[in-house]
Amino acid sequence: MSRRRLVYEGKAKILYEGPEPGTLIQYFKDDATAGNGEKHAIIDGKGVLNNRICEHVMGALNGMGVPTHFIKRLNMREQLIRACEIIPLEVVVRNVAAGSMAKRLGIEEGEPLPRPIVEYYFKDDKLGDPMVTEEHIVAFNWATQADLDDMVAIALRVNDFMSGMFLGAGLKLIDFKIEMGRIFDGDFQRIILADEISPDSCRLWDLKTNQKFDKDVFRRDLGSLIEAYSEVARRLGIMQENTAAPASGPKLVS
Ligand code: UDP
Repeated sequence: MSRRRLVYEGKAKILYEGPEPGTLIQYFKDDATAGNGEKHAIIDGKGVLNNRICEHVMGALNGMGVPTHFIKRLNMREQLIRACEIIPLEVVVRNVAAGSMAKRLGIEEGEPLPRPIVEYYFKDDKLGDPMVTEEHIVAFNWATQADLDDMVAIALRVNDFMSGMFLGAGLKLIDFKIEMGRIFDGDFQRIILADEISPDSCRLWDLKTNQKFDKDVFRRDLGSLIEAYSEVARRLGIMQENTAAPASGPKLVS
């Protein structure tokens, strides 16, 4: 079999050329990074869990009419996606103060916000992804005002949908990060949700105990990341309880 052409390699994912023009294959690695790559580890099985959780969320969003790049999961670590032109912004939606916002504004982590707050960060590792405003985005031509209107509408729809979905799984959606891209249909351009949605890019706290089930487990050394992500998958009903258990050899089926 001929080797696939690598299109892009990031910190947690690899993109390969897809089988049809306009498609790509997104491969989920086991690498976990935090603090702009300062902390790095390989966590066995993380890519498999994120691929499954991302399939679950993006598939459901597609079904609700929210346009995403997700087409289908291909195997344990790969999914087929639509190629798009990535907009160089991270869009963060927050429901509860946490992380960088809690620190920057001196708000205690866990304080519910009066309304969902949308923030933008310019994707540039060398600059440490600085926060930017709509003024910067339009002035520097990263996106037009019309694109921004579409992006906010998508981000808030994703927030409403995911908040409900995780609530049903006993989890609070504290905040999340998404990325979007453009696809072209002749002269017509559309914004779609791209990249990934997984516990790497969301904060998810237990509804009752506030236990963390997201990448903060890795960032803050709070325990086993795999156990946390497996619990998210289990609560969403996308993994049997024993799926992530270590292999114990063949079992006799009577
Ligand atoms: N986030 C992300 N990638 C980044 C930065 C943030 O996925 O490069 C997510 C993060 O997991 C959280 C939300 O975006 O769900 C808000 O992150 P925050 O700005 O609080 O940054 P952090 O505390 O992670 O530095």
